[in-house]
Amino acid sequence: MLYLDNSATTRIHEEVFQAMIPYLREEFGNPSSKYYLLAENAKKAVEHSRESIANFVGCEADEVVFTSGSTESNNMIIKGIVQQSQDERKHIVTSKVEHPSVLETCKFLESTGAKVSYLDVDQYGRIDIIQLRKIIKEDRPLLVSLIWGNNELGSLNDIPKISEICKEENVLLHTDATQVVGKVKFDLSKLPGIRFLSFSGHKIHGPKGIGVAIIRKDHLGRRTKLTPLLHGGGQEFEYRSGTLPVHNIVGLGKAIEIVTRDLDSNIEKLNLLEERCKELLKNKFGHQVAFNSDHKDKIPGLISFMILGVNNQRFIIKHADKLALSTGSACSSIKPSHVLKAIGKTDSEIRSTLRITLSPDIDPDDLNLILEL
Ligand code: PMP
Repeated sequence: MLYLDNSATTRIHEEVFQAMIPYLREEFGNPSSKYYLLAENAKKAVEHSRESIANFVGCEADEVVFTSGSTESNNMIIKGIVQQSQDERKHIVTSKVEHPSVLETCKFLESTGAKVSYLDVDQYGRIDIIQLRKIIKEDRPLLVSLIWGNNELGSLNDIPKISEICKEENVLLHTDATQVVGKVKFDLSKLPGIRFLSFSGHKIHGPKGIGVAIIRKDHLGRRTKLTPLLHGGGQEFEYRSGTLPVHNIVGLGKAIEIVTRDLDSNIEKLNLLEERCKELLKNKFGHQVAFNSDHKDKIPGLISFMILGVNNQRFIIKHADKLALSTGSACSSIKPSHVLKAIGKTDSEIRSTLRITLSPDIDPDDLNLILEL
């Protein structure tokens, strides 16, 4: 089976798996318990993972908040900011091509009286910086929430530039970085405009059910106020109550350490695999194949393409025993993609769109399977 759906999820890394096992067996303590060794060991493991993540993203350890994944982080940050705001006007600026965990959260908040502006995007799914600057200047929104790397198209928004604008204009910025962690280099210590960032463990060869909300302090070192989604025992700096899943946190920490170690070579491998894959697709399908993704400023290893005249679902089903790929994102595979609609694709183009997402552990020769389809 050739697995080419690594933006949906990834195989757990063996080192991650091994690191987790003790915390599912003998080291079962609750990190919130006090003084005895099992509890202290669990707490140390959690704090070690928090440090690894903070080092990787370029923030302070107590700005790393563990959640169940990006869906929760996105909900927590966007709802949390709107709910704690004393302003009469609660205006969020986002875009038409966000992940459903942002879009549906925004729709929900609209139903409670918030105002949401959905920015248009270009043919590759990127927002227009001039339009963003204009709306910020005219309407002083409470929060800007924009995806860093698009999960269907791979295009990167210019988040460093957007961070600069939000810093200048003193507007809170959240970015969903789920698809860029481990594939695009960044350093939050150089991007002070980003106040919130989300990602999930299972997209980087870590376990499922764990993710992070980075919640940065303000320039005076004060914690950002957020109404929590989950009230309770006050874990995670009172942002997110509930007993910590130590095994998953350890797994995520290990996955991040591996990403930190291998980032350069992973990016290089993904770029090479992407080139090879595109060549093979062109050889196999000739003029029938057309690429939706831009060739620059994109997530390496994500290819969105159409095989003209071929129905995407039928194609996936036909090859399901030897190949795993997707029509777009795993989360929106029932409805026609809102992302492809937003970039102007017709219904028939959407029905022939497929997405391949690569992983650095793929043997390039295995891609030759494409020629046999
Ligand atoms: N944001 C983006 C960009 C994603 O690709 C995904 C996963 N498809 C999510 C958020 C949600 O992540 P999770 O399902 O791990 O909560």
